[in-house]
Amino acid sequence: MSSTNIQTILDRVLAGQRMSVEECTLLLESHDIARMGVAADEIRARRHPDNVVTYIIDRNINYTNVCNVVCTFCAFYRRPGAPDTYVRTFEEICEKIDETIALGGTGVLMQGGLHPDFGIEWYEDLLRSLREKYPGFQLHCFSPPEIHNLHLISKLDYETIMARLKAAGLYSLPGGGAEILDDEVRKRVATKCTTDEWLDVMRAVHRVGLRSTATMMFGIGDRIEHRVRHLQRIRDLQDETGGFTAFIPWTFQRENTALGRKIKDEPTGVDYLKMLAVSRLFLDNIDNFQSSWLTQGLRLGQVALRFGANDMGSIMIEENVVSAAGANNRADEKMLQFLIREAGFIPQQRDILYKHVHRSEREPALQLT
Ligand code: SF4
Repeated sequence: MSSTNIQTILDRVLAGQRMSVEECTLLLESHDIARMGVAADEIRARRHPDNVVTYIIDRNINYTNVCNVVCTFCAFYRRPGAPDTYVRTFEEICEKIDETIALGGTGVLMQGGLHPDFGIEWYEDLLRSLREKYPGFQLHCFSPPEIHNLHLISKLDYETIMARLKAAGLYSLPGGGAEILDDEVRKRVATKCTTDEWLDVMRAVHRVGLRSTATMMFGIGDRIEHRVRHLQRIRDLQDETGGFTAFIPWTFQRENTALGRKIKDEPTGVDYLKMLAVSRLFLDNIDNFQSSWLTQGLRLGQVALRFGANDMGSIMIEENVVSAAGANNRADEKMLQFLIREAGFIPQQRDILYKHVHRSEREPALQLT
């Protein structure tokens, strides 16, 4: 497609018109990423006119690596009964939370494999005990595949599960396990929940009044049409519920994975920036887009701030899942602030719902605005 035609699509979107599926496909087929970046940056600036780019201080706690399904893109899981399985104790989890709070953290992202033996009571006990010990600390836990697994074990519908977990102290839900929301792709690489089940869990999450993020991991054998369908499904659900706080795309990390040994082409930096920019332009009903510096590296992660992202994500005190598959980038708060400033923005700590967090050196107690 010629640059003129690409610009026509971008001009329509900049004039406030919703992008069609056909237009989205044309953009993703084009190599004209500079034009897409400029348009995505303009839409980002309109949504966030304060010139602020946010980041969060939290950590990922993976409470267990036991998993009873197989995803060929995953290097983290261990089959039940394998010698190197683990389940974190309550004390171990608390130790990690104490470290996070000492660094100014506001919450944790806690996820695990799909344990075959844990019913809803196990999750409720954990959440209740953590809420009691750390009131105000945000528990952003359990992706849709874990909720679906709970549904299979406890024989409860998604809405009942979400209402009970919310009552026990769950603050919000991470959007993990989406990968590509298209069963043609999902069935080839995983035996976990289907596209509709992932979307239905999210619908239940939003119905009980919780918010969640939405994610996308591409480069797992998907084609452009699958990526477009993924975006369409997220946009449709957001139209229905308005419950997504953010969209976070990243690329498949191949090391130590069965799929990585099979797949020849992996997404490049250009693919990532294009996907991010097109997502910002297509998903006109989502406010926040996160740069995935953990998978793309700090430098490309910084450039992503000019391709539609308004958030640098987490300082990642701990991460075990994508790092097991080869994403070994590291950053502390100072580094993220530096990268944000050098890209021309004002760095600002946020909490899990994207509210700004203010803390002073003398008074580490967090205040939410
Ligand atoms: S991605 Fe999650 S569900 Fe899939 S194998 Fe890994 S831990 Fe299990």
